[in-house]
Amino acid sequence: MHLIIFGAPGAGKGTQAELLKSKAAVAHISTGEILRDAVKRETPLGVKAKAIMEKGELVPDELVVGIMKDALQDPKSDNGFILDGFPRTVPQAESLVEVFKEMNIDDVVLLVLDAKDDALVDRLTNRRACKECGKIFSLAEVEGKSECPSCGAKNSFYQRDDDKEDVIRNRLEVYRKSTKPVLDYFADKADVVTVDAMRPIDEVAKEVNEKLKLG
Ligand code: AMP
Repeated sequence: MHLIIFGAPGAGKGTQAELLKSKAAVAHISTGEILRDAVKRETPLGVKAKAIMEKGELVPDELVVGIMKDALQDPKSDNGFILDGFPRTVPQAESLVEVFKEMNIDDVVLLVLDAKDDALVDRLTNRRACKECGKIFSLAEVEGKSECPSCGAKNSFYQRDDDKEDVIRNRLEVYRKSTKPVLDYFADKADVVTVDAMRPIDEVAKEVNEKLKLG
């Protein structure tokens, strides 16, 4: 499987990627997750990315393209991969297509999770992440709980700085301006599959499985 999950912030890319990974045993490459880890560990990459991410802006192309290349060339990606949160600009998409050519990958599927802005603001303000494993939950899933259902960490839930409302509006604007054009770019370069992502997680997952013929 060589899959790109595409969609606005909050459309459910990370959630669907995790579900797919459990079916297809491929690498889940989330540039956002790699960057958040770098920020946490205060690496040179993390130091550069921190302020940009807090504002909901995009980290410079050359930095994320480097992350993507390392991840695709890692043996963990030998069985296939799910790219989540990359590419987010047309230049990133161009670099990705170059790498696909170098790696002789010609069966890429672009899965579009289609969602409406207003609902996304709601979803994003009502979600919490685990500081330890990075997994995202809805507020309703973790309210009153002290243990992370995924990794068991105690009192680890927090609201990402970029999930506050003004930052969310900026992220959605950045998506419209810089990321949406990536869809047109891929129209003749990948098999594009679109799913309505405004439904409950399991319904979206069912349609994703059907459309990707995963049974
Ligand atoms: P995400 O977890 O995918 O929503 O990403 C969180 C943040 O990381 C984004 O708002 C950006 O600041 C940064 N980021 C993640 N992926 C990219 C990318 N492909 N290009 C630029 N910035 C990115």
